[in-house]
Amino acid sequence: MPWCDGCDRFWTLDALDGGGGGGTADCPNCGSVLALPTAAEDQGAPWHFKLMVAAVVAYLGWRAIQLLVWLVGRF
Ligand SMILES: [Zn+2]
Repeated sequence: MPWCDGCDRFWTLDALDGGGGGGTADCPNCGSVLALPTAAEDQGAPWHFKLMVAAVVAYLGWRAIQLLVWLVGRF
């Protein structure tokens, strides 16, 4: 998603004017020129995001095992 430094926020593509293409659009709030993500960048999640998801899944799986062990230990 396009990030505006001036407003410190992300804009959705729908919120932007889009302009005449060329990979840029004007910020609807402050008018700064924002770089739009290319089609290639839009497809799929970046590798560090997938890594984070994998880490969270592994952590939650480990916590689930700990919960099971704790439950079994109570009976
Ligand atoms: Zn802005």
